[in-house]
Amino acid sequence: MELCHGTEPDQEIEDTMSALFNDADADVVFRSRDKIRFRIYSTYLKNTTGGFPPVGFTPHEDEIVDLDENASTLNLMFQFVYPQPQPPLRTLDFPTLSSLAEAVEKYQIYPAMQICYVFMTKALPSHALDILDYAIKHDYYPLMDKAAPHISLEDVSSAATRVSPRLLQIWIPYHNACNQALRDAFKINEPHKRPRSSFESCTEWETRRASILITLGGCIGVKNVESALASIACTSPDCCREAAVAWQAKARQGIAKPPKFSTFSRKSFQDD
Ligand SMILES: [Zn+2]
Repeated sequence: MELCHGTEPDQEIEDTMSALFNDADADVVFRSRDKIRFRIYSTYLKNTTGGFPPVGFTPHEDEIVDLDENASTLNLMFQFVYPQPQPPLRTLDFPTLSSLAEAVEKYQIYPAMQICYVFMTKALPSHALDILDYAIKHDYYPLMDKAAPHISLEDVSSAATRVSPRLLQIWIPYHNACNQALRDAFKINEPHKRPRSSFESCTEWETRRASILITLGGCIGVKNVESALASIACTSPDCCREAAVAWQAKARQGIAKPPKFSTFSRKSFQDD
């Protein structure tokens, strides 16, 4: 728990008070990272959260407790602590939602944890990397499996310094397994059936097949299995399209089912 005992109120006269949480009778004062104070009734914290007050923490009278989060996050979070209608999350932008989701996990704000989880899930397929990081951090296995297939090597590479080392540790073996399935798909040489109502072989297939192989080859090591499978396709409404569909079905069958990220996560946990 990253709480620290703050300074006396008199020393921080530039602080401003939250418009929503300013009841003079409230017995605990929190201060956001951006210097907004929140007066909160400790009774509500005790009744609805698991992370307040932290073990062994007893604020002295008039002492301020500094929190790491900004006021916009705390303002939303404390609304879940009080017996009042919960704030709507539908209209939040992703960074705000994500900060709230992390804060309610950190302080164990029980009334908010599931609803934040639901809205984080609904944000997919956008922000998949951040959502995967959140899912790993809080052991949300089904959400890991929903988020991971939307992430490419480029996504991970460009955010390698931002995501958690644990995500990288799990994602790399997961990605290798995905690529093995792609390599298998590459080797399938599905025979092209003779076009209907024709005694001649299709003259287009070899060219189209080569084009598919080039696209598929470009996916190996870069994209996940599901999005790469889409490259085994032919848009022309003829016999070649049928051949591509059969190839894709066989590739999917060969994969049996795409590797699940959560399997790698559990394995990594056992190895620790
Ligand atoms: Zn054809």
